[in-house]
Amino acid sequence: AGGTPLLDVADCAVSYGKVSALRGVDLTVGEGEFVAVIGPNGAGKSTLCNTVSGFRDYTGSVRYHGAEVSDQSPRDLVQQGLVHCTESRDLFGYMSVEDNLTLGAYRANTNVDERLAFVYDLFPALAERTGQLARTMSGGEQQMLAIGRALMGDPDLLVLDEPTLGLAPVILDDISEGIEQIQANGVTILLAEQNVTFALRHADRIVLLENGDVVRRGSPEELREDDYIHESYLGG
Ligand code: ATP
Repeated sequence: AGGTPLLDVADCAVSYGKVSALRGVDLTVGEGEFVAVIGPNGAGKSTLCNTVSGFRDYTGSVRYHGAEVSDQSPRDLVQQGLVHCTESRDLFGYMSVEDNLTLGAYRANTNVDERLAFVYDLFPALAERTGQLARTMSGGEQQMLAIGRALMGDPDLLVLDEPTLGLAPVILDDISEGIEQIQANGVTILLAEQNVTFALRHADRIVLLENGDVVRRGSPEELREDDYIHESYLGG
């Protein structure tokens, strides 16, 4: 409510050598808000997520809780509740579901049992598979595990990169329900998504990135009525 947004990205640019991945991006995420960044392959969504969580050099400004992230390590940022669930999931394949989850309890003073109970309640499929090796799970279950592990860090800001990638529609419903509950629990969410329908269903505000530029922004209602979005991203 008012004051400094939880995340404030202003005129942010990132390049990889000669490739310019983000060009002057502006984006804020208020406490409790759900903001989605949509856009095609290579638009810069993952770069934005990685920059926010402290993994990229940038010009311009990226502030979390009012403090520039370039002054902090990703590890410091996690301790302050900025937790990133990466596109590649980065699970430990030869470890069990429960061991993967427990490793996500990065923050000091975490009540591990309480957090585990929260995650198992959120994704019952994980509760049925506590001893199963992560590598033997389906894509959807692995995504639930990746999100669950991020939640073990008790995030204030959860950065979710492409959670629907490669998942069947029936699994998407489980992921959707989980995400709704996470938001209901007061977690602020920054979502990067190519699945525009999924992003429009969940987010309060949407930003469309193309070639590193923000080309549209607005509420789901506004974007659904936008001819360009409709033609190019919602199948006309
Ligand atoms: P995708 O959904 O395919 O992951 P994206 O929107 O997340 O796409 P990015 O992964 O951020 O896009 O990529 C933005 C641009 O930056 C692309 O042109 C990509 O080739 C380039 N890029 C990303 N990561 C690197 C890297 N580590 N080294 C060099 N170039 C990179």
